[in-house]
Amino acid sequence: MKKNFKLMATASAGLESLVAKELRNLDIQNVSIDDRSRVFFDGDLATIAKANLWLRTADRVKIVVGEFRAKTFDDLFEAVYALDWEALIPFGCKFPVSKAKSVKSTLHNEPSVQAITKKAIVKKLQTAYHRPEGIPIPENGAKFSVEVAIHKDMVTVTIDTTGESLFKRGYREEKGEAPLKENMAAAIIMFTNWLANPKRPFIDPTCGSGTFTIEAAMLALNMAPGMNRDFAFLAFPWFDEAIFKQEKALAQKQVKTDLELDIQGFDIDGKMVEIAKRNALAAGLADVIKYKQMRLQDFNTIALDGVLVSNPPYGVRLEDEEKVIQLYGEMGQTFASLETWSKYILTSDVEFERHYGQKATKKRKLYNGTLRTDLYMYFGKRIK
Ligand code: SAH
Repeated sequence: MKKNFKLMATASAGLESLVAKELRNLDIQNVSIDDRSRVFFDGDLATIAKANLWLRTADRVKIVVGEFRAKTFDDLFEAVYALDWEALIPFGCKFPVSKAKSVKSTLHNEPSVQAITKKAIVKKLQTAYHRPEGIPIPENGAKFSVEVAIHKDMVTVTIDTTGESLFKRGYREEKGEAPLKENMAAAIIMFTNWLANPKRPFIDPTCGSGTFTIEAAMLALNMAPGMNRDFAFLAFPWFDEAIFKQEKALAQKQVKTDLELDIQGFDIDGKMVEIAKRNALAAGLADVIKYKQMRLQDFNTIALDGVLVSNPPYGVRLEDEEKVIQLYGEMGQTFASLETWSKYILTSDVEFERHYGQKATKKRKLYNGTLRTDLYMYFGKRIK
């Protein structure tokens, strides 16, 4: 079986540079971002384990099986057939071609791309495993999800190593109505200045299920986000589980258990506060984060130099619009006295600054799922 891989991490648009930074911090080799914002890197089995265990801002880690140009279905069939499938998919394993995507390419019919790719892999494995043609090869073992992406006639064929997307850490049992994905929450925290000195207060005044507060604590304490979940690669027959166990043990040792944090979440909705508490407990952070039911309008503090991160309601539905405009105005008034605090607010409202009553120091475009949002950043005044 294969020992060294070309790998690829996928992420929401706008987060590639963070993914690349995370990979470099893990001492992973040959990290590069291509002109289509795809993050590539090289590695072995330990790299696959480490990247899945540690990446906070990515969606998935994939093995790049091959890249080639194809303009006809014959080209596609031949090139897929030529790839080294028997080095990756043992006899008897499942290999659904679970996704085909085509952009600006001659081969634009995605279902046909999917079907031809499957046929080519079947034929290759029949040959490699000396099975008679015409009789389907059995597929009842571990699953290798194959994906084909075509862009301007360049085909990339990958196998997913992650399984359920990496945003699912395993701690969020309940999530309320408008949850933020965990990887997006982690990315936003990495965009703030809090991690430079995480002893400063961190507050999410609209905490919902607690995503920002939990991701902030995990980042500051250097807790690997994937410690409590399963990954597709663990079922691959050639993956030595001892490697994963070793990576987990190494990760466990790197937790900064002695760092004192001041992280708080509150929400107007008592039900959400209870959910946030349960999620923090599931993440092993019940003693680290404080939650309470409170209106953000009632927040005040004498603490200095804190960081406030909020994902307030957006008012996407028309009937909510007025309420939300009023809320943003009250946020502006409530937070105005926190001059030394840095504030980061994520919303899809393009008029947010006007409603809030202050121009942001900086803005950053981000996608909350498919919804275009901006992170409005207000930097706090320096303490002299
Ligand atoms: N980021 C959260 C979701 C936030 S949704 C998560 O990942 O789960 C917005 C939250 O703002 C809701 O939970 C809502 O109850 C809360 N909220 C609305 N108005 C509020 C107010 N005036 N004060 C505090 N919280 C409020």
